[in-house]
Amino acid sequence: MSLDSFRQETRAWLEENCPAGARGPGEVSNGSTKIEITDPDTRLWLERMVEKGWTVANWPKQYGGGGLSTAEYVVLIEEMRRIRARAALSSFGTSMIGPTLLEYGTEEQKQRHLPRIARAEVEWCQGYSEPGSGSDLASLQTQAVLEGDNYVINGQKIWTSGAHNADWMFILVRTDKEAPKHEGISFMLLPMDQEGVTVKPIKLLSGESPFNETFFDDALAARDDLVGELNRGWTVGKRLLQHERSGMESLVSGSASAKTSSLADVAKTFLGEVNGKIANPITRDEILNYEMDSVALHLTQRRVVEESQDGATPGPATSIFKVVSTELEQDHSDLLTRLHGSRAFGVDNNFTVPEIEMTKQFFFSRAASIYSGSNEIQRNIIAKRVLGLPD
Ligand SMILES: Cc1cc2nc3c(=O)[nH]c(=O)nc-3n(C[C@H](O)[C@H](O)[C@H](O)COP(=O)(O)OP(=O)(O)OC[C@H]3O[C@@H](n4cnc5c(N)ncnc54)[C@H](O)[C@@H]3O)c2cc1C
Repeated sequence: MSLDSFRQETRAWLEENCPAGARGPGEVSNGSTKIEITDPDTRLWLERMVEKGWTVANWPKQYGGGGLSTAEYVVLIEEMRRIRARAALSSFGTSMIGPTLLEYGTEEQKQRHLPRIARAEVEWCQGYSEPGSGSDLASLQTQAVLEGDNYVINGQKIWTSGAHNADWMFILVRTDKEAPKHEGISFMLLPMDQEGVTVKPIKLLSGESPFNETFFDDALAARDDLVGELNRGWTVGKRLLQHERSGMESLVSGSASAKTSSLADVAKTFLGEVNGKIANPITRDEILNYEMDSVALHLTQRRVVEESQDGATPGPATSIFKVVSTELEQDHSDLLTRLHGSRAFGVDNNFTVPEIEMTKQFFFSRAASIYSGSNEIQRNIIAKRVLGLPD
């Protein structure tokens, strides 16, 4: 089929099948079977996208994907953006462990895990950070020892987002204590629902607990759930981070992320307008710069997808995407809160729901330059692995 016909078909299919309530900002499934999707349109949209294979449109069909070529995938993203359709599914499965298994998994691992991710039947969490091993991740101490058909795991992870709802964890463990630190690590898959795994929520000041401490006391991972070679898990774990940092998924999940009202509209409301322009020229300049940088990032991500032979995530250069997108996210929330003045820091019922959401978003945007490796660490990677500067 020509790309033009594919576009026409896709446009028609989306018009017919993407319900009104799945357009614009709103709920997106993260694959959890424990968190109920409350909005019926979101549920319907997920069911239809699963059936079509478009929750992971560029994965091969035999693993629950849509089997789209890179060019077709780009068309789908463009058409979704056109109608502001939200991603139907956005999860650690679709953005992290799925693409990693496609590269490093055995056929059996792919068959077992990928279709369930595509069908939103499983939630994954990431067992990387430990107390004392964050930026220096390769110093991790959680240990796995092979006994019969299982690896027996002991130790602790921290900041494990979503572990309290997750069904599976992908985990980095030490399997050779004598080897140099990067060479004694393995990458495994571990079911969370077992006696040896204890999840303790970390309570935030806000009262929410988005992440946890996770303890392993003789927890078991099947021998078949080792991904890649024993003691070569650093390579697999690093590749997963590149998928996470690439922001590729945001090309789709960002389809509807266009904020409810643009910064320019907010500025006009709060600062007034002159001849259709934001009255304050300095704010106008700041917003224009933000918008141009956003478009440039988006176009660069799209170019990278288009240029890659098979839609593959690039290597260390993904750190550039991570730094730029994080800084843009923070610029956006800075601008938005500044424009709202005293309405910007809503915590109680004197504020509207959107105002409270904006406050939460402001605080959460601070975390963006820490999770998935802090921006300082990304700059180290860019210096060493992209620019080739000396250590
Ligand atoms: C919202 C959120 C969700 C998270 N979710 C998960 C998750 O699901 N799973 C998981 O495993 N982890 C998760 N993390 C943990 C995250 O990966 C770590 O916080 C991060 O890697 C930094 O590690 P650290 O907190 O131990 O800080 P540290 O490593 O102690 O760093 C402290 C400071 O020192 C700087 N620094 C350290 N080393 C260097 C260096 N060599 N050069 C320059 N500066 C340096 C850092 O940039 C940072 O500013 C999450 C974190 C957050 C905030």
